[in-house]
Amino acid sequence: MKKQTKTIALIAHDNKKAAIVNWALKNKETLAKYDLCGTGTTAKLIAEATDLKVKRYLSGPWGGDQQIGAKVAEKKIDMVIFFWDPLESQPHDPDVKALLRIAVVYDIPIATNRATADYVIHSELLK
Ligand code: PGA
Repeated sequence: MKKQTKTIALIAHDNKKAAIVNWALKNKETLAKYDLCGTGTTAKLIAEATDLKVKRYLSGPWGGDQQIGAKVAEKKIDMVIFFWDPLESQPHDPDVKALLRIAVVYDIPIATNRATADYVIHSELLK
């Protein structure tokens, strides 16, 4: 299996954690080709469920989204899978918005739901 050089960040709000873990399990073989990172709790849960190595940043409400945004700005993250919760307000809402913004500024794919995540992870452009 050829190791890719791209880095994928994984983030999910609490009500979406089970969904991102299931998604990661389903796509484990593909994810294994990339460097992975994520916000604290999301990264921990995915690493435990999949046995993949996932670099952990701080938990989202404690600055994890901002850390990931900074890495996007440094061009060290190539894609973000971000299952955010549209039905519950988050204490770190400004950070969430900032991350969405910086991903657009640097023109990287940012999948904000499972359907989009499925498309991007199977994209020819990712190879
Ligand atoms: P968490 O952070 O993975 O540490 O829960 C995610 C978020 O709420 O942005």
